[in-house]
Amino acid sequence: MEKILVTSALTYANGPLHIGHVAGSYLNADIFVRYCKLKGKDVIYIGGTDDYGTPISIKAEEEGVEPRIIAERYNKSMKKDLDGLNIELDNFSGTSRPEHIKISQDFFTNLLEAGYVTKKALHQFYDEKHKRFLADRYVEGICPHCKSEGARGDQCDSCGKLIDSINLIDPKSKLSGEKPVIKETTHWYIDLPKFEKQLREWFQTKKYWKDNVLNFIMSWLNEGLIERAITRDLDWGIPIPLENTEGKVLYVWFDAPIGYISSTMEWAKKQGKPDLWKEYWLNPETKLIHFLGKDNIPFHTIIWPAMLSKQKDKYVLPYDVPANEFLNLEGQKMSTSKNWTVWVEDYMKYFDGEYLRYYLAANAPETKDSDFYWKDFQNKINNDLSNVLGNLANRTFVFAKKYFDGKIRRPEKHSKLSDKTLKESYKLVEFTDKSFNNYQVRKATKIVMDIARSGNKYFDETQPWNKIKTNKDTAEETLYVCTELLRMISIAFSPIIPKAMKELRKMMNLSEDFKWEDIKQIHENFEIGEVSPLFKKIEDAEIEKQLELLKATQIKEKEKMEHKPEITFEDFEKLEMRIVKILESENIPKSNKLLKLKVDIGGEERSVVAGISESYDPEELIGKKVAMLINLKPRKVMGVESQAMVLAAEDDGNFSVLVPHKNVKEGSEIS
Ligand SMILES: [Zn+2]
Repeated sequence: MEKILVTSALTYANGPLHIGHVAGSYLNADIFVRYCKLKGKDVIYIGGTDDYGTPISIKAEEEGVEPRIIAERYNKSMKKDLDGLNIELDNFSGTSRPEHIKISQDFFTNLLEAGYVTKKALHQFYDEKHKRFLADRYVEGICPHCKSEGARGDQCDSCGKLIDSINLIDPKSKLSGEKPVIKETTHWYIDLPKFEKQLREWFQTKKYWKDNVLNFIMSWLNEGLIERAITRDLDWGIPIPLENTEGKVLYVWFDAPIGYISSTMEWAKKQGKPDLWKEYWLNPETKLIHFLGKDNIPFHTIIWPAMLSKQKDKYVLPYDVPANEFLNLEGQKMSTSKNWTVWVEDYMKYFDGEYLRYYLAANAPETKDSDFYWKDFQNKINNDLSNVLGNLANRTFVFAKKYFDGKIRRPEKHSKLSDKTLKESYKLVEFTDKSFNNYQVRKATKIVMDIARSGNKYFDETQPWNKIKTNKDTAEETLYVCTELLRMISIAFSPIIPKAMKELRKMMNLSEDFKWEDIKQIHENFEIGEVSPLFKKIEDAEIEKQLELLKATQIKEKEKMEHKPEITFEDFEKLEMRIVKILESENIPKSNKLLKLKVDIGGEERSVVAGISESYDPEELIGKKVAMLINLKPRKVMGVESQAMVLAAEDDGNFSVLVPHKNVKEGSEIS
């Protein structure tokens, strides 16, 4: 039988799981795997944590513990969060486990021996204070491509481009906060240009890949492939398998995808068949499908297939890479460093995991970025799950219990309307089959919900509450059709909200063991069991609470002070600061931030431009004595020369000039 191997991008073990991970690579994979299992396919679902790399070692340094402790902690917490969301991987491993080390070293050796790895001396940033080379994320600066601040030494979060840290503008060491120096070191590179022809030919066979993925690849290829370093100077990582290379480890992006293989090996061992992994990885017929976020596209479509293709063992290459775009939060780009996200462990304290599954499925960032809005989350849960699907089940079952003791028979003859309702639903379910197969979760979600909608409409039109008084059989017919729709829904929706659909089937006394094909298996008689509401409505207050919590984390984040590198007393003595008296003050035309001041610095007048006009009317400053930095190099601002700088405190965009506590004469020096 055809084998399917599904992976979710390994998540960095430097923090807990958040909704971006779920929407990017876990939920879509889990839904696809559940669908494949329903179709009776031979599928395994593999994942784990990416335990190496600088984010983890940086966190370990901050906490003063071993990196391994950090990796193990977040591996455990992520597994727990995934369980809470009913995301069921067949194996969830971590790349710091022993299985992973040898195979990663073999990948390196095989590529080297096949002539696809080169060794180079190069210049790299070095922190003199800490006596260490600064691997990728240990340096930050301005992105050389898009000029965004806060770009890391390996990649820019704003434009997604990979960066050679040496090209960062205004670089700073994360260790000392100082500007690093440049020193020579040696590293090994994968010779990607050598793969270009082979890759281009391979992409010709991948016309069925998603547009966003193909576009990304083409723009990468057209910029030209370059050799990429596959080793780093770092303590935390897989040592490279060569003599005299102490302190050099594999670059985390090199060994991370190999984690899919080592995790499969771990799975095989747990099955008691250690060689079972080969039936997937070394089988040209296996459909290897990588689910991931768009930032991971280049690694999985260019570098990873290149690595796989030059091993001694003949590995299968990716069959498909259905990458998702990004999920934003409340209209803003998600950022874990700024705590602008929803952590799954926090979410689970308040809401059912099924609700998040439904919302993220209905809102999946499949072809473009999508947004998580708490208010929209509430609307979708209340309007769709509760008012449509929950309502259809509840009204049908309660009615059946009340008038038919829960026993619903299939009518011998259908009305035209009943016939139409059923037929249309069977047709719709076939569409969801295609959607699931094409990873179109959003579409599948909408179609199944449409079936429930048509059920409610049909219920309203046939009015069983009236018919029960005049024609009991017609009322029963309505109940039969609605229950039959709910039976179909319980299968078609089970990849998306598995737990709720299990409950729904229990109410209908249907087996827990079912297949996709059962959808078409017309059911004769139903016997409704215990009935309880499938979904609970979310109250306004619950959503307001989430928005408040989100706001609170932002205030806390803001209050986290960023300190500048320390300076000496001699540095401080270079500043000439004095109390000055403001003589004149006026707005600068065409500027809504700037004031033009004339000040007396103690017998000498200066003209000063100050960016405080949003906080002060010009007149209220006249006659005030304020603190000022006198010896700042003069500069022209909007045509006005500024010969000093007003000292002011800023509180969330609000400026307050500093005034002396006692009356002192202008020109008094501040020290
Ligand atoms: Zn950039």
